[in-house]
Amino acid sequence: MLELFNYVDGARKPAQSGRWLEVWEPATGQVYGRAPQSDEADLAMALESAQYALPAWRDLPASERARWLNRVANLVERDLEEFACAESRDTGKPVALARTLDIPRAISNLRFFAAAATQFASESHAMECGAINYTLRQPHGVVATISPWNLPLYLLTWKIAPALATGNCVIAKPSEITPLTACLFAERCIEAQLPAGVLNILHGQGAQIGQALVAHPAVRAISFTGGTATGQRIAATAAPHFKRLSLELGGKNASMVFADCDFEAAVAGTVRSAFANQGEICLCGSRVLVEQSIYARFRDAFVARVRALRVGDPRDASTDLGALVSAAHRAKVINAIHRASADGGRILCGGGLTQVASTACRDGWFVQPTVIENLPPTSAANQEEIFGPVATLLPFEGETEALAIANGTPYGLAASVWSRDIARCHRIAARLECGVVWVNSWMLRDLRTPLGGMKNSGTGREGGYEAMRFFTEPRNVCVSY
Ligand code: NDP
Repeated sequence: MLELFNYVDGARKPAQSGRWLEVWEPATGQVYGRAPQSDEADLAMALESAQYALPAWRDLPASERARWLNRVANLVERDLEEFACAESRDTGKPVALARTLDIPRAISNLRFFAAAATQFASESHAMECGAINYTLRQPHGVVATISPWNLPLYLLTWKIAPALATGNCVIAKPSEITPLTACLFAERCIEAQLPAGVLNILHGQGAQIGQALVAHPAVRAISFTGGTATGQRIAATAAPHFKRLSLELGGKNASMVFADCDFEAAVAGTVRSAFANQGEICLCGSRVLVEQSIYARFRDAFVARVRALRVGDPRDASTDLGALVSAAHRAKVINAIHRASADGGRILCGGGLTQVASTACRDGWFVQPTVIENLPPTSAANQEEIFGPVATLLPFEGETEALAIANGTPYGLAASVWSRDIARCHRIAARLECGVVWVNSWMLRDLRTPLGGMKNSGTGREGGYEAMRFFTEPRNVCVSY
């Protein structure tokens, strides 16, 4: 039984209340550890430590803060395999994915923002009357990051790296469902001798420690990734304090496939986009819109490819899809499939739970990759985020209808467009109501670019200088000479 810990004031700490939360392994359906159930007393300790650390951290040259981030990145890279196995165990995702995506990306996040710290600059505006304005960009102070269970270390580092790089001290709350790699990360921070209090990691329930963190007046900015309902609660709590807020929420993203696409690339790309990480990525393309003239051919090729996906033990190198993250989430996904079927959806493949070959995974939370057609764009399956291995297929006639369907949900996070007509791709990219558009690709990420959504997908942007600006307060200084 693994015993996880909070990271407070540079040291391992249990919850002061002595209370714990069980940590489950999705692939086996068994408890394998326990994590501290933190509350306000732990928050008070973390805040005191962060506030004490702040002046020295803020006043370090940016190149020194960069050095600390790089030092921790090097330790994560040294232990990449341990991190990948832990991430796979905690989330149910294939270890091959954690090894090639999650952990390398976490390392890149740290290195990218270490470099950004040394390159970040602010503006100046000269006036003809003999004055010059310059903008000072200073850290907020103590900030909070709240990250979800689907990409645990990837999203934890995506938030803490720019926050630390710009001179803030951070209190991070990972998802209670997936605390393991945050705990390993804390160990590497201790090994690197990161100054105490600069980063604190508190485990526990969102409604308890998460809510306390958001509500605390001393926490000046909050960077959150998770569900839209939680984002609304956080926004309502933070608003009276005028805290800086970055909310990266859910999506119901469209993949738009036109008849003139590179057919094979579009099939492969849209299947990957729908089913990567068991469909548990906010950027996944869960609605696949296909031009009517190629619909039948595309549907058959898409379904054949989905049928070939291997659901299995996440430790097995040949596994494409592992287990869903929790029994509750699996039930939510299965309910969504049943509802789609009741709404008249035709299930082309999958549609239920599955048992995998490995006996160790007998009680794991596995769901068959599922493809559904014959549902109107307004149906629940085409409007609500399912966040699992479920894709719907929708035929369309022409650009106007494709855009109406793509934009016709409360969400506005991402989309992909598959076409060889580059003018069409630009036209559509300009009219999509979302924050990220991929053309003939998906999840091709340049860390300098803005990432985030509109409508119910959130507010604010992460990535590159957007993140550096979010974590700093601009102050204009006007000097007359
Ligand atoms: P949540 O939004 O509940 O969780 C995200 C994070 O917020 C977790 O760390 C959670 O902690 C924390 N949290 C929960 N409630 C509060 C609160 N009141 N104040 C502060 N922090 C809080 O996501 P779920 O895990 O419940 O997933 C629900 C749905 O959200 C999914 O089905 C999916 O649709 C969507 N989702 C979207 C993601 C994205 O990347 N955009 C990522 C994950 C989920 P704890 O886990 O301890 O409750």
